[in-house]
Amino acid sequence: MDVLGMVDKTFAGIKKLREISQKLHDAELQNTIADLLVDVADLKVAVANQREDNAQLRTDLEKLRNQDDLRKKVKYENGMYSLTQPVPGLSMGPFCPRCWEDRGKLMTLQRYCCYVCEASYGPDTGPFQTETL
Ligand SMILES: [Zn+2]
Repeated sequence: MDVLGMVDKTFAGIKKLREISQKLHDAELQNTIADLLVDVADLKVAVANQREDNAQLRTDLEKLRNQDDLRKKVKYENGMYSLTQPVPGLSMGPFCPRCWEDRGKLMTLQRYCCYVCEASYGPDTGPFQTETL
């Protein structure tokens, strides 16, 4: 049973306790149980929010691990980046240095031009020179 299930089970137990307490006609006991029900309801919301935060953190961690894994497969050579081994969904390069270094994106160069940031690379322009297309 996960944490949310345990909270639900606790909530159900307190509701049953409230039913029993109503037979005793003890106002203080009933108020205490009502307060407990509110506290457990708040706890359930907090657990649900924590669960969402954890899911987001897991997603962020996976992205960082993938990015780190990708960084290990990228090499810098002759002013451009390329892959040292195949990565599904990517060419082997060359990739735009500006896009990789500034945004962590591997953008394949077409005739030594990046069509995302419009930088061009080559013997005449060198790295990080932007030309108007
Ligand atoms: Zn670029």
